[in-house]
Amino acid sequence: MYPFSYVRPASVQEAVDCLSRFPDARPLAGGMTLLPTLKQRLSAPSHLVDLSRLPALQGISQEGGVLRIGAATRHAAVAQSDVVRRCIPALSDLAGLIGDQQVRNRGTLGGSIANSDPAADYPSAVLALKATVVTDRRRIDGDAFFLGMFETALEPTEIVTAVEFRVPDRAAYVKHRHAASGYAVAGVFIADHGGDARVAVTGAAPFAFRWTAAEQRLAASATETWAPDTLVGLEPESSAFNADATATPAYRAHLVGVLAGRALSTLRTLEAKVN
Ligand SMILES: Cc1cc2nc3c(=O)[nH]c(=O)nc-3n(C[C@H](O)[C@H](O)[C@H](O)COP(=O)(O)OP(=O)(O)OC[C@H]3O[C@@H](n4cnc5c(N)ncnc54)[C@H](O)[C@@H]3O)c2cc1C
Repeated sequence: MYPFSYVRPASVQEAVDCLSRFPDARPLAGGMTLLPTLKQRLSAPSHLVDLSRLPALQGISQEGGVLRIGAATRHAAVAQSDVVRRCIPALSDLAGLIGDQQVRNRGTLGGSIANSDPAADYPSAVLALKATVVTDRRRIDGDAFFLGMFETALEPTEIVTAVEFRVPDRAAYVKHRHAASGYAVAGVFIADHGGDARVAVTGAAPFAFRWTAAEQRLAASATETWAPDTLVGLEPESSAFNADATATPAYRAHLVGVLAGRALSTLRTLEAKVN
């Protein structure tokens, strides 16, 4: 680890000022990704600007059809929140599936999406739940937020303060976990916004994306209930998919189709419980 200064700002403005003053300063949330990169000397920030205790980045609230979660909210808090469970149970499920208990106790929503790890779970929720990413200076449409592997629309000194998720009529998230880390080998988030289908995929490609062919098939489906076999035979184009020791691009493409079917089955189960 290279030496660095630790800064604990009292406000978002103070944090932004510090990031602006020192070009090699970096925001620190739970440190779940940042600290390992420091330990491995892959990153050498001059200052770590600790966002984790800023009051403006905390809290979970619902207003109308929007669920707002502060950027420094930890995965465990999202998984355990009654508000999240009531509004978007699929988001509680997603948070509870991240890594292990230690990771969920430290990792944050803001850190997860700012990192845009190809195998992270939250990016699929941002896309499927028509989210808006709120920063210290603007509001970014979720569809325009993820630009590439570990690349987002954030400017160098910009801080995510919250994410506003649109509450869907129903939604489901299903993932295939990596056996060691728990990260998504692939994950599919399906949401129904008044018949407007959103299907978002993570883990398969360099960054999360909307599977528009699946959305179109669901929109054209004769039945409002989106039967579990609606997407059978459909697989995403996989030429740019991730290849690693766990799965080939072709395997991931097949997996996405299977997971999408499971997500539709989950929606069906939820409906049965409601009725
Ligand atoms: C063993 C292990 C297993 C994991 N498994 C999963 C998994 O299954 N699914 C999953 O989705 N994730 C998984 N993760 C990732 C984890 O959940 C964290 O979300 C992720 O590592 C980010 O961590 P953090 O919130 O502590 O952010 P940090 O590590 O502190 O920061 C990450 C990056 O985001 C920047 N940043 C942080 N907060 C902000 C902000 N508010 N605004 C702007 N930039 C910011 C930092 O500067 C840094 O570049 C795993 C991590 C580990 C170590």
